[in-house]
Amino acid sequence: MKTVLIGVGQAGGKLTAALQSFDQQMGFGAVLDAVGVNTAKTDLQSLPFETVLIGQDRVNGHGVGGDNELGAEVMESDKTEVMSALDGRVTAKTESIFVVAGLGGGSGSGGAPVLAKALRRVYDIPVYVLGILPGEDEGAMYQVNAGRSLKTIARESDAVLLVDNDAFRSSGESMRAGYDAINDAIAKRVGLLLAAGEAVEGVGESVVDSSELINTLRAGGIAALGYASAEASDVAEENINAVMSTTRRAVLTGTSLPDASTADSALVVVAGRPEVVPRKGVERARRWVEDETGSTQVRGGDFPLESGRLASLVLLGGVERSGRVESFMERAREAIEEADTVVRGDPTEQWANDELEDLL
Ligand code: GDP
Repeated sequence: MKTVLIGVGQAGGKLTAALQSFDQQMGFGAVLDAVGVNTAKTDLQSLPFETVLIGQDRVNGHGVGGDNELGAEVMESDKTEVMSALDGRVTAKTESIFVVAGLGGGSGSGGAPVLAKALRRVYDIPVYVLGILPGEDEGAMYQVNAGRSLKTIARESDAVLLVDNDAFRSSGESMRAGYDAINDAIAKRVGLLLAAGEAVEGVGESVVDSSELINTLRAGGIAALGYASAEASDVAEENINAVMSTTRRAVLTGTSLPDASTADSALVVVAGRPEVVPRKGVERARRWVEDETGSTQVRGGDFPLESGRLASLVLLGGVERSGRVESFMERAREAIEEADTVVRGDPTEQWANDELEDLL
């Protein structure tokens, strides 16, 4: 799926750079272009693509300091400038736009929903958000910001592909090295998914195309992506079990949003050398995903890739009723209630609480 990426905020910019770099390294050509947007000047400096500094009149390039309402206001005032940076980048070839943002901070959290809404009014291709949820051990402000942002994004975008930082965090790493590793892991998964939706000439008919990705996300709301890989045998028949087990692992232990296995729709993509990907295995894996998710809308296909391994990618659409989303919203609600007790009677906090109530 030919895509233009817009990274908003610090996490959004860094993840966008990782996505672009993975796509270039693999030679996929699914990422057509990328733009970075932020209120903090220093966060834009290291990004290897065009950037737009917003809110200069309000924060003078110093960022919004985790205030996502300010992040939203600033995006609202400067969105024309951001949209102009996209002129000539979003072309007739572009099949989707991804707004990439960390939902726990200020610029990305507040700015992404405003930008997604503006983009949808202008373009008639889907506008998706790739959103990062804060880890459980991050402070209350992050949970509150992410709770508010998620609700708005789910309404204002065509779908939110949600990534939980806790799903990728490994212990013993510094925060910074940790983020780089998380970004690389997400870039690989999302990069493969985008590339899988590219038409590949001269290969069998079960190859996935962009419309299948778009249809899987058509109902909107929250989506998650699972991934797992294994060594491949040179004989297709011998890989049936490998395809089954990578698919199970992708859904049960490898999703970007843990415990998100109740879904409205799904797309199963098996990547590997075409001559060793077993058709029977892909069909069996697809049926297993139907049973596991309880969805009757499960698409499946393969993605020809020169590799000694086989990988299963499972895109799950409509996962908002999953345990993880519910427990995150509970966490956000508790954080808001605590904030409520501190700022007693603050009408904005009460409003936020009401907003969260009707997400579930
Ligand atoms: P903003 O610049 O105001 O939008 O704020 P950030 O992008 O720094 O958002 C903060 C949230 O993003 C927190 O929940 C962090 O855990 C997360 N975060 C910050 N940097 C990264 C990163 O490089 N990768 C990932 N995956 N998460 C990040």
